[in-house]
Amino acid sequence: MGRIKTVATLFFAAGLTIVLVALMVAADTIAQQAIEALTNPTVLGKVLSATAAFEPIETIQAPILIYHHIKDFEGSDAQADALYIVRPQNFEQQLTYLQDNGFTPLLLRDLPDYFSGKKVLPEKPVFLTFDDGLRSQFEVAAPILERFDFPATFFVFTNPIDRSDNYMTWDQLKTLVAAGHDVGSHGHYHLFWDRISAAELPAEIIGSKNILEDQLGITVVTTAYPFGEYTPAVTTAVGAAGYQVARGIGHGKNHRSDQLFTLDGYFVTNSFSYFKNIVGGR
Ligand SMILES: [Zn+2]
Repeated sequence: MGRIKTVATLFFAAGLTIVLVALMVAADTIAQQAIEALTNPTVLGKVLSATAAFEPIETIQAPILIYHHIKDFEGSDAQADALYIVRPQNFEQQLTYLQDNGFTPLLLRDLPDYFSGKKVLPEKPVFLTFDDGLRSQFEVAAPILERFDFPATFFVFTNPIDRSDNYMTWDQLKTLVAAGHDVGSHGHYHLFWDRISAAELPAEIIGSKNILEDQLGITVVTTAYPFGEYTPAVTTAVGAAGYQVARGIGHGKNHRSDQLFTLDGYFVTNSFSYFKNIVGGR
């Protein structure tokens, strides 16, 4: 009897040891996995992003770049126009610089979401914008943007669309939208919004928005002031028309959440050193 009891006890003890060891191994594996998960940059990134997504931001540092023509300078171009022309190879050099320095181009229409924390702001944001709906932007700039997989905002004034070789067509604008770019309003006739009468303003601000939305089937929430000029009355009218973001022209890349209708943007030139100055980086 005594011997059987001893054997039974031994078996029981052995069984308990096996169970204990099994539990310890399991616990160790779980702990190991947890440590791996937390130290894995992808998982950690997701955890941090999920937290950051709920944090509103007051100031966002991001250069807003303004382009007009992307093309080679031609003899027929007036000297004054040179300021509005960036050569294709210089444009490529600028985009390469952004890529090499870890910048992430974003769409201006998403800016309110980056402020509210609804969208997570990448570390080095930059906004590429193109004014006036010029044909060279579709023919020259868009294929280069596509190669870099960079999205951009195209601010067009609606009057010359489909009516001039110098400006884009509706089909071209639709192609840009389908490729992930955004189209914003730049008025209908490209007038000075700070100088025209109160009676003329709605056709520029509301009329152009309606035309773009009807033709392109998108919601237009961004605008760029023609000539970069605006008054408090103009910014109020822009907000009342349903825009969420409005860009002017000026030096500055720190944008406050209460300045969505007076955003500064830099005129980009052919000078690479000036470009590097604007965006910063290395
Ligand atoms: Zn313009």
